[in-house]
Amino acid sequence: MEYALSAAQADEVLRALSRDFTVCAPKRFPKAGRYSDTDIVRYDRVEKFSDIVWETKSDYPAKEAVSPIQQTLFYFTEDEFRESKGPKKPILLFARPCDIHAQRIQAKIYAGNGGFEDFYYTRVRNLVKFAMMECGGGDDTCFCVSMGTNRTEDCSMAVKFSAEGMQVQLKEEAFLPYFQGMPETSYTPAFVEENVLKVEPPDLSDEGVYQALKKHPMWKEFDSRCTSCGSCTVACSTCTCFTTRDVLYGDNAEVGERRRVAASCQVAGFDQMAGQRELRPTPGDRMRYKVLHKFHDYKARFGESHMCVGCGRCIHRCPEFISIVETVRKMSAAVQEIQEEQSRAQAGAGVQP
Ligand code: SF4
Ligand code: SF4
Repeated sequence: MEYALSAAQADEVLRALSRDFTVCAPKRFPKAGRYSDTDIVRYDRVEKFSDIVWETKSDYPAKEAVSPIQQTLFYFTEDEFRESKGPKKPILLFARPCDIHAQRIQAKIYAGNGGFEDFYYTRVRNLVKFAMMECGGGDDTCFCVSMGTNRTEDCSMAVKFSAEGMQVQLKEEAFLPYFQGMPETSYTPAFVEENVLKVEPPDLSDEGVYQALKKHPMWKEFDSRCTSCGSCTVACSTCTCFTTRDVLYGDNAEVGERRRVAASCQVAGFDQMAGQRELRPTPGDRMRYKVLHKFHDYKARFGESHMCVGCGRCIHRCPEFISIVETVRKMSAAVQEIQEEQSRAQAGAGVQP
């Protein structure tokens, strides 16, 4: 069933949905942006049509509604603990196709990693239903088409927003009652078919090439350029790393709560071990780790698409204007250089390619 709702009718439907769901969507937070007098758009609970920011991509991803930047795991006293309570109400999450794909990827990491299931992620994720927001083409940092995340059918409804209201295609019958009496129309969601930005990740299936790429001087550029601020990973739709922190309630250090807090592989000390040893001590080392994780390691482990969904939020947030697309292009050039060097070495040694 398809519907065409005016803004007032959309408010009515959202009110009805809010009785049974926590409705989350991109929302504007005035004057909370990075620079003075700028806003930020991030996910939060919405109650009416005008709360939803649909004209522009949110600064932060939909993952914040499922795996918030910090959450309490359990409360402890001296000799006992109690698990935190998760949400009980189902969540209706308005998200673009790239953000829905990002949740497929996050679920693999949190819930399908070596047979371990992350209880805190799963208990929220199991409550989520998606309302796919038709994307009008994104902006000049998007490259979803290159990453194959521009289309999805994984949603309970598809929605096209406009200043007048919203068109809805229902995919799940359970939502029919919320739209009863609303004007019907004919609507088929459209998907982005081309982005200005395009990227073709290099083939790193040859172990020799992969190892040589890890040592390539291209990563050294980031030693002076990347400030290791971690903004790119906080804004990333698919990053999942976290650390834990105990918050104590008073003088007694044994009474408080343990929280998990988003962490960043780009920040110095992320991988510090006993004896102050760090596996990736320079910004270049950390950049190599992040980029290879997004464009090789995840795919090698889970055998599906790359981890990056091409949302472009890391490009948008980086204060040093470091573009993941440009970095992948440099990686492709480095791979070509390595392959040519290998061919020359083989020819010199009289080995047939
Ligand atoms: S690496 Fe950048 S473009 Fe890719 S999913 Fe993360 S934020 Fe989006
Ligand atoms: S946002 Fe930019 S400067 Fe900050 S850690 Fe990421 S790449 Fe480095």
